Amino acid sequence: MEIRRNSLIDYFLCSVFPRRCKYCGKVIKPERTVCSDCEQLPEIKDPVCMHCGCNEKDCVCKKKSHFYEMAAAPFYYEGAIKKAVGRFKFKGIYYLSDSFAQDMAKTLENRLGEREYDYITFIPFSKKQKRRREFNCSELLARSLSEITGIECRELLKRIFDTDRQHLTGTVTRKGNVFGVYEVVDKNEVKGKKILIIDDIKTSGATVDECAKMLRFRGAQYVDCLTFAITKSKQDIDTDEEYW
Ligand SMILES: [Zn+2]
Ligand SMILES: [Zn+2]
Repeated sequence: MEIRRNSLIDYFLCSVFPRRCKYCGKVIKPERTVCSDCEQLPEIKDPVCMHCGCNEKDCVCKKKSHFYEMAAAPFYYEGAIKKAVGRFKFKGIYYLSDSFAQDMAKTLENRLGEREYDYITFIPFSKKQKRRREFNCSELLARSLSEITGIECRELLKRIFDTDRQHLTGTVTRKGNVFGVYEVVDKNEVKGKKILIIDDIKTSGATVDECAKMLRFRGAQYVDCLTFAITKSKQDIDTDEEYW
């Protein structure tokens, strides 16, 4: 009887609040979590290159040096995942953060399970971005992941220039400014610490690298990066870099 009543309640709830695919938002049967289109997600399968996070056959990073040591993500930024990120970022469906963080937590365990972290942190917003947008996707994901994993989330970085992200790399290079756009909030917080930077998408990795650079300069022991999705190295590297 109990089961029957629950399924009736379920039926009622689903007719009022239909269950939706967690990636594309399509209405689905109550017993499912994703729709049939999204069952074939662009998962990044083993073996992976831990330097860029791509599957070895897609890796073109040639172990190019950067300030973060390891990179990982559950998915490539394509197909259903590209749509899902769009819903999250542009339509402001911020509750997707928990669901994305669940996928990221699995990747953290599988790929970075041997690593230890003192803190999870995120890419800070500029003041302009804060004014324009309601939420920082990187921060939301970091906070959701922190809740799942129990690793403390701390705001370790701040902006010293109020530049938009799409102009960031160029600005830093042009100015020849090694200290770039970011600075740590408090040097004492960072010294000797093992840090995991969270973002939604890694394209060329320039933004994460800028952040990792400052954390390392201020004495962090190591910095890794975990994102929800990675753009395959071959595609759109220069055009697609965090244009939002
Ligand atoms: Zn779907
Ligand atoms: Zn690689």
